[in-house]
Amino acid sequence: MRKVLVLEDEENIRSFVVINLKRAGYQTVEAGTGEEALEAVRDNPDIKVALLDIMLPGIDGFEVCRRLRAMDNRIGIIMLTARTQEMDKVTGLMTGADDYVTKPFSPAELTARVDALYRRTGGDEAAVSPDEISDPPFLLNTRNRTLEKNGQRVKLTQVEYSIVKLFMENPGKALSREEILDTVWGKDYFGELKIVDVNIRRLRIKIEDNAQKPTFVNTVWGYGYKWGS
Ligand code: CA
Repeated sequence: MRKVLVLEDEENIRSFVVINLKRAGYQTVEAGTGEEALEAVRDNPDIKVALLDIMLPGIDGFEVCRRLRAMDNRIGIIMLTARTQEMDKVTGLMTGADDYVTKPFSPAELTARVDALYRRTGGDEAAVSPDEISDPPFLLNTRNRTLEKNGQRVKLTQVEYSIVKLFMENPGKALSREEILDTVWGKDYFGELKIVDVNIRRLRIKIEDNAQKPTFVNTVWGYGYKWGS
């Protein structure tokens, strides 16, 4: 699992970053202060990339960067800088950061930077297709083709597994029933679209808290389905 540290004291920014990294297949370790971040890196030697906010209560992001570098030369460091503080970028790089992202940043920009740095730090043997897709409470293991919900295995048919995988690879995206049919059953499959609905219904019984009021597999009326809201 690819692990990233997210140090940011503003909770809304931190959760925005965390959600997007998780969608991109990363596992995250969160910290709200520099002291917590240093402790987290000590406790999680498999963290390969750290995202560091600069303005923090206690020691600032530059100091965290300096101390991380002193601890571990290989960890990749990305500073989260404010647009107005051009000097932050220079200072960040001088203290040992590998890269910086200027706030406000888009999810795509952020994950592209993390992906690139992850590759550079050599921590990424499975960059192209991660073994696991984490989207709490779910964890999909693409090597074993298994799904866990809250740590408990959910027994799925191969078709159901393929549907979940498609969803988890496209969180929040409306997928048409045709698209689901083509991807899961193959383009050569001559069947009715109804088979998609039947499988979704069964899948909901297995993975939703309440299949009558689904929150994970949502219906997009007259079109298809999507994962999440
Ligand atoms: Ca801050």
